[in-house]
Amino acid sequence: MYELNEKLKALRAYVPVEAEGCVRLDANESFLSLPEEIIAEAKAAINKLDFNRYPDPSATELCWAFAEYYKVDSGHVVAANGSDELISIIFSGFIMRGEAFATIEPDFSMYAQGGHLAEARHVAISKHGWAVDVDEVIETCNRENVRLLIFSNPCNPTSLVLGREQVRRLVHGVNGLVVLDEAYMDFSGQSLLGEEESFDNLIILRTCSKAMGMAALRLGFAIARPELINALRAAKSPYNVNSMSQALGTAVLKHPELLQEALGRIMLSRKELLGGLAEIGAKYPGRFILLPGETNFAALDMENGRAVQQQLLERGVAIRYTGGLLRVTCGAPEENREFLEKFGKILEETK
Ligand SMILES: *Cc1c(COP(=O)(O)O)cnc(C)c1O
Repeated sequence: MYELNEKLKALRAYVPVEAEGCVRLDANESFLSLPEEIIAEAKAAINKLDFNRYPDPSATELCWAFAEYYKVDSGHVVAANGSDELISIIFSGFIMRGEAFATIEPDFSMYAQGGHLAEARHVAISKHGWAVDVDEVIETCNRENVRLLIFSNPCNPTSLVLGREQVRRLVHGVNGLVVLDEAYMDFSGQSLLGEEESFDNLIILRTCSKAMGMAALRLGFAIARPELINALRAAKSPYNVNSMSQALGTAVLKHPELLQEALGRIMLSRKELLGGLAEIGAKYPGRFILLPGETNFAALDMENGRAVQQQLLERGVAIRYTGGLLRVTCGAPEENREFLEKFGKILEETK
């Protein structure tokens, strides 16, 4: 009888929160879909596609549009099916079996999964009071002969951002490859984009799933100097990004004004959500700590977080409990209000 190998036996499929008909504040997506104007353009682009042909393996136009939007060199960019695919390509290519990779916990769960499948040794460094100790990370990575350090900045789930200078120090100090996942950097201001040329051990990841409202398309990008980008191009499957996602993503990225407007609305939602939570926090002192985050979600440190998440789900609001924190995505104004009202009620009832 066929038996799965040990590494597969240890894995479970990712299960998103079951939340049929609920207010969805659990996945850090944008609450805004794409503007009509862009959808019309994208449809026109799709009408012109040769559906019988393979897509452009380099996603040339898409990478140009990305590079133009972020003012980076398009020769430093590679596109993929979401940053999830890039994480998996990086682990399969840049790590040999038994080599060490490091994460700074808690962090995005896909990192551990990628390392596990690559049969790498996981060096899990802890955050302290949700903060990163840069010196400790450098020291641990080099002592443990870590070949790859991967972390999100701003961090999912803590929402906290590490300043540019600190990140530069990390990349300089660590001997291995540093994968800097900037999935939420559109909501903050500490990006290292544009500096990739000056580091021979840095890969930056960006995604269209958060600020840009294209989670359905699965588009992610890696940005690095050409030596690393060429290695990624060689390691990926040739036709990884399908023609429809390439066409749609290009159409969207060519509208910086619409993207900026959407970003402004998400930032306003964050202000409302964090403001509302701060008010509730003042009313119920000591019940939770709201982390001063720079993402499109709020992170709450709360004693019975898991129970609160369950109670909210029963009342029709889906949020996540992950890495010891409650994580609430910034929603549409009415969604934020519904969450705040129900969250406040739960605190009142469990006083
Ligand atoms: C959401 C998220 C991503 C995005 O993944 P995609 O595959 O591009 O949708 C990557 N990293 C982190 C930390 C995230 O939270």
